[in-house]
Amino acid sequence: MIQLSNLHYAYPGSSFHLDIPELRLSLGEKVAMVGPSGSGKSTVLALISGAIVPQSGSIVVDGTDLGTLGEAARRLFRASRIGLVFQEFELIEYLSVEENIRLPYLINRHLKFSTDQRDRLHRLAQQTGLEGKLKRRPFQLSQGEKQRVAICRALITKPSLLLADEPTGSLDPNTAAGIMQLFMDQVSESNATLLMVTHDHSLLKYMDRSIDISELLSAGQPPAQAMVSGEQI
Ligand code: ADP
Ligand code: MG
Repeated sequence: MIQLSNLHYAYPGSSFHLDIPELRLSLGEKVAMVGPSGSGKSTVLALISGAIVPQSGSIVVDGTDLGTLGEAARRLFRASRIGLVFQEFELIEYLSVEENIRLPYLINRHLKFSTDQRDRLHRLAQQTGLEGKLKRRPFQLSQGEKQRVAICRALITKPSLLLADEPTGSLDPNTAAGIMQLFMDQVSESNATLLMVTHDHSLLKYMDRSIDISELLSAGQPPAQAMVSGEQI
């Protein structure tokens, strides 16, 4: 489902770089990614989603080599095949809940929103308890409701791959537990592959395995922990 090989990425003008000899995820696998802050977890997700492009190496997602796609094709691939959930929800304040869920269709004219998608939107809203709140704006929602909107948006296109970046980081533990149960039910129902960055050990029970980013990085690179403590000094 995901195959990274000999990946090298450095942010322009930054000393941070990431070298990953290999990472593979099987179809339908649910994998947690752990590691200290600043070690490159969000960067790995950005690379897999095609939001940023590695300087060398290859990223194959669901049979498509991202390196063969131009920018527009990459954007369409991301919008249609990958669902993204972030810690800070990334909702658009001036859009309603319904429009926020529909966002992949609003920003990409190649994705068609017709009866099937409308039905799916209402089903997801119902399953997540948002059906009475579709006309609200994000500022009228609790943190937990915002994350549920973000989850519906990630699922609306029926993506084969879900990438979640500390999705419960902004939620209190009780809210987080309920929302993750709901999210995992949806992930299982759609048989999607999930790669989730998390510090929350209570989520590991949902996952097939857990990978520590420092174990992914090639020899040559200082251990992530040392890098982080170096920055803090
Ligand atoms: P994590 O998600 O594990 O906390 P990140 O992938 O966000 O780590 O960041 C890894 C490193 O890359 C950090 O040192 C961070 O400062 C740096 N970084 C992140 N985004 C950018 C950017 N857009 N430009 C330059 N450096 C960045
Ligand atoms: Mg991060």
